[in-house]
Amino acid sequence: MGVRRPTVVRSRAELSEALAAHRATEGGVALVPTMGALHEGHLVLFDRAASLASCVVASVFVNPLQFGSGEDLDRYPRDLDRDVDLAGAHGVSLVFAPEAREMFFDGEPRVRVSPGVMGDRLCGRFRPGHFEGVLTVVAKLFGIVRPAVAVFGRKDLQQAALIRRMVSDLELGVEIDVIPLVRGEDGLALSSRNAYLSPAERSQALGFVRALTEADEAFRGGLSDPEGLLARVREVVAEHPSLVLQYSEIVDADTLDAVEAVRAGSVIALAGFVGSTRLIDNLVLGAERADPQVGSHA
Ligand code: AMP
Repeated sequence: MGVRRPTVVRSRAELSEALAAHRATEGGVALVPTMGALHEGHLVLFDRAASLASCVVASVFVNPLQFGSGEDLDRYPRDLDRDVDLAGAHGVSLVFAPEAREMFFDGEPRVRVSPGVMGDRLCGRFRPGHFEGVLTVVAKLFGIVRPAVAVFGRKDLQQAALIRRMVSDLELGVEIDVIPLVRGEDGLALSSRNAYLSPAERSQALGFVRALTEADEAFRGGLSDPEGLLARVREVVAEHPSLVLQYSEIVDADTLDAVEAVRAGSVIALAGFVGSTRLIDNLVLGAERADPQVGSHA
C-alpha cells in the first residue's frame, strides 16, 4: 500500500529523540492516547489527528491506574503488531508503547490528578478512582509528548469532558479535539470490549442503542422532560432479558450536569452490562447528523 510502518518506541528517551528531530524540522505534533486493540473508531481519531498536525503520535498503553479491582485489566485485548500496522495506514508516524514500569519508573504516582466533582457523576459513581487514573496518565502523556493538539472520542463522553476541563483549569496549553462517536454497521458503538461479546450478546447489546434512539425520537416528537425520556430508555432496555442498565442520564456535554429541560445538543448517556461485559454509549439528542457508521462489526 506504500504506507510507512510507524516507528515504535518503548521508552520516553527514544520518544524524545524522535520528537526532537521532528520538531526541529517540521513543527506540530498531535497525540492520540489509546489502550490499543484498535478498531475503526480509533482510526477515525488518527485520520483527524493527521489532518491537524504533521506528526501524529499514538500511545498504546493499557493504563493500570484506570482499572478497578475485579475489572478486566488482565484480559484486556492486546495486539501491538496489528495496532502498529493499522495506525501506520492512518497517518500515525510514531507509536509510543511503554511498559508500566517505563511510565511509572519509581512506582505508581503518589501525586495524582483529581477529577473533582465532574468525576463523581455518570460512570464515576460506579468506577471509583477510574477518572483519577485516566487524568493522571493523560497529563503524564501530555508532559512526555508535549503535543500541540490531542484527539479524543465522544464515545467516552465523561473522559472527553474531564480532559477538556483539566486542560483549561490547569492551563496545560494543549488543544483538545473531540470526534463524534463511531458506530459499527449494526449501530453498536465500536469498542475494544466488543471483542468479549458472543454473537447473541452483541445482538442483545443493540437494545442499548435502540433505547437511546427511541428516546431521541420521543425528544424530536416534542417530549423534553428528562424523566419521561429516561423512562423510555428503561422500558426498552427492560425488553432485553440479558441487559442490565447501570445508569442513564441526560446531561450537558460540557459540564456533565443533569439537565432540567432537555434541548437539542443535550446528551443522553448510559452504561450497562451484557453478561459480564460493561458497555457505555451516548447520543446527542436532536443532532442534525447521525453518528458516523463504519462497515465493520468490531
Ligand atoms: P481506548 O483505547 O478505548 O482508551 O480509546 C482511545 C480513544 O479512542 C478515546 O479517546 C476514545 O474515546 C476513542 N474511541 C474509542 N472508541 C470510539 C468510538 N467508537 N468512537 C469514537 N471514539 C472512540
